[in-house]
Amino acid sequence: MPLQLPADLSTRPTPFYLYDLGLLNRTLEAARAAAQAHDIQVHYALKANSNAPILALVQQHGFGADCVSGNEVQRALDSGFAPDHVVFAGVGKSDAEIIRALDADIWCFNVESAPELAIVDELAGARGRRARVALRLNPNVDARTHHYITTGLEANKFGINMTDLPQVMELLERLPNVELVGLHVHIGSQITDLSVFETLAGRVNELQQWFEHRGTRLPHLNVGGGLGVDYQAPDAHLVPDFARYFGIFGRLLQRRPGQQVHVELGRALVAQCGTLVSRVLYVKESQQTRFAILDAGMTELIRPALYQSYHRIENLTSPGPERLYDVVGPICESSDTFGRQVALPETRRGDVVVLRTAGAYGEVMSSGYNLRDKAAAVYLGGA
Ligand SMILES: *Cc1c(COP(=O)(O)O)cnc(C)c1O
Repeated sequence: MPLQLPADLSTRPTPFYLYDLGLLNRTLEAARAAAQAHDIQVHYALKANSNAPILALVQQHGFGADCVSGNEVQRALDSGFAPDHVVFAGVGKSDAEIIRALDADIWCFNVESAPELAIVDELAGARGRRARVALRLNPNVDARTHHYITTGLEANKFGINMTDLPQVMELLERLPNVELVGLHVHIGSQITDLSVFETLAGRVNELQQWFEHRGTRLPHLNVGGGLGVDYQAPDAHLVPDFARYFGIFGRLLQRRPGQQVHVELGRALVAQCGTLVSRVLYVKESQQTRFAILDAGMTELIRPALYQSYHRIENLTSPGPERLYDVVGPICESSDTFGRQVALPETRRGDVVVLRTAGAYGEVMSSGYNLRDKAAAVYLGGA
């Protein structure tokens, strides 16, 4: 199916984010069905995209919410997610954020360190509450993705390392206001080598045995998110292979009777439904390089500058013969470059150029740098 564009594109100011809610709906439906086949619960990672129409659709599919800030917890609750389907992760939760989540009585805090555990206990006790916690463990599994989005190695700031776990468990057993409900891992993002998840499932089984040897049973296993999408050829894989992904955990996790399994997907659910639409301001030819200068920049989509990530760039206006362009934004930074030596049809001022697969970690990371206006969001299709 070709990219759907708004009917009034010719008069619409650019840049703007375009969301295909029909595709989002198909993606959520595929994820829901595959998760259900293995009795796995899905929590949507709000940080990938927290726009209201997107959250509404996610919530309607019965998913929970995975939050990494107090404002995300609030946004999830305001969007209709039930408190007992909200989890709160993050390596640096502030007291105010913890208190807000305690008062909302969310389902679970994914705790990332001993000092955090002590503070959650203290704040819960002060409010006469008992907090459910899962320990976020660092399983030391290499996600084989970009090092900026790898989180499950011992050198990363996230999670509790195995060497520290015995002390954390001793602490936990002394704290009266926290209740251990499970273990949590999240090893990174944009994981396309699915054997990584097989390794992870094996590690989670080992971790579970470690707890059981100490006489601790875990009612919940949360294996995090990270399923990747096809940035190179989005149209070939608009909907990720959820059957294979959930199948791995369904097959390999050693699940105890009554135990619940959770995943936290962000990117895989929303990346392909979003497109950044821009126009070409200028084509600037120098001796070495031909630049296509867009009216969208790193203020709208920072992923190429931040993670050297690739987004497919398409010129929707010109049918001409292909030439090579460095496609750049207008921001006063050399890293404001979307792609170098990109083959595009002969490109001119005013052409509509899109950056595909921009629904996750796109609009949410936009900034007002250079006093830029916030790009609009346009929604097409629907349930
Ligand atoms: C970001 C994040 C996720 C979602 O990651 P994706 O790669 O978008 O699936 C899940 N869990 C935690 C704890 C996260 O921080």
